[in-house]
Amino acid sequence: MLDQDALAFDRRHLWHPYTSMTEPLPVYPAVSAQGARIRLADGRELIDGMSSWWCAVHGYGHPALVAALKEQAERMSHVMFGGLTHEPAVELGRRLVAMTPEPLRHVFFCDSGSVSVEVALKMALQYHQMAGAPKRHRILTIRGGYHGDTWHAMSVCDPVTGMHSLFAASLPGQLFAPRPACRFDGDWDANDLDAAKALLAAHRGEVAAVIAEPIVQGAGGMWFYHPEYLRGLRTLCDECGALLILDEIATGFGRAGRLFAAEYAGVIPDIMCLGKALTGGTMTLAATLATTRVAETLSTGDPGVFMHGPTFMANPLACRVACASLDELERRDWRGEVSRIEEQLRRELEPARSVPGVADARVLGAIGVLEMRQPVDMARLQRFFVERGVWVRPFGRLIYLMPPYIIEPGDLSRLTEAVIGAAEVMGGG
Ligand code: PMP
Repeated sequence: MLDQDALAFDRRHLWHPYTSMTEPLPVYPAVSAQGARIRLADGRELIDGMSSWWCAVHGYGHPALVAALKEQAERMSHVMFGGLTHEPAVELGRRLVAMTPEPLRHVFFCDSGSVSVEVALKMALQYHQMAGAPKRHRILTIRGGYHGDTWHAMSVCDPVTGMHSLFAASLPGQLFAPRPACRFDGDWDANDLDAAKALLAAHRGEVAAVIAEPIVQGAGGMWFYHPEYLRGLRTLCDECGALLILDEIATGFGRAGRLFAAEYAGVIPDIMCLGKALTGGTMTLAATLATTRVAETLSTGDPGVFMHGPTFMANPLACRVACASLDELERRDWRGEVSRIEEQLRRELEPARSVPGVADARVLGAIGVLEMRQPVDMARLQRFFVERGVWVRPFGRLIYLMPPYIIEPGDLSRLTEAVIGAAEVMGGG
């Protein structure tokens, strides 16, 4: 039981994401979670608007996922993947190869989204070494992106929100094109690609890969950009010999209304990162997929191997529960669920446009965003939301929703009402 003592320990000794150790923001003790609800220690139930950061697409405690986990735990929770293999890894690998575009046939399992991005970047650099272009060591990306908090992943996050200035001396200097200006549902202007084109031309022969979140830039600003931009990036990569890495960690498995967001543009990457909803939010697992060309090139020359191998690579529990999550996705009409959520978010967030202080309201798939003109007071809003029985965690100027796909319309309305209420509170000062 989480008593005051436990909370005091937490406050003094445990880091939470992006918080101070000496002046941490308050945290709320959660004791259980079921469906679209998180229960707090004092008995209050909160309707979940976050899917625990894009993950819990089927809601919490899904019986099929829990059963898969239990069954696998009794059989074999973990064995090393060096020299051994197992059915959960093979089964999940088969399914990922089958559900992603045809050229992506080779799977590297790893522990988290950030690590899968590290793996992708490392693959791109080693690929060019083996392909006889060792000078290609830089990565081009777009501002407003987010790819994780580990070292090289951080180097391709937005330099401002990623706090590059703190680490300037030791972060690799990557190339940044401006954030795409054309909105997902707006008109396309070919000039949007000019800066990326110019950067690639100026650094021809130096760029190993372009990395981007397809269509939806998540934690870097919740921005939805035009599919033509992504098509343009693919063409530019092909013209200059750089690989295209698409980070579908947040968007994968239906969140943006397609199984993978790159489908909006019909673009196939050379390397693709998956994570988050891969296990339906049960536990951490990620995968980096590569085309045969990339995989075979990596395997030539010296050392002839891809030098990466985490201890918990292809953890059987995580792979098994990921298979159960994919079964669940296939079994249910997730497209219908996501498009129903999209339609309701559009309808119910529309009035927010006239709330003072709201700069923009946008919706894509099961993602609804209010962008405020000023940064919000996170602690105040967090309290505001909990008092209204919902779990929403804003950041920066963004108040946003990405609920589990199984959310009931009535619960979603409570989330949208709370979000608009919060915008009113913030807009009114
Ligand atoms: N890429 C994207 C697009 C993400 O949204 C995230 C997590 N927010 C990551 C990478 C990093 O994943 P993880 O937190 O599992 O390391």
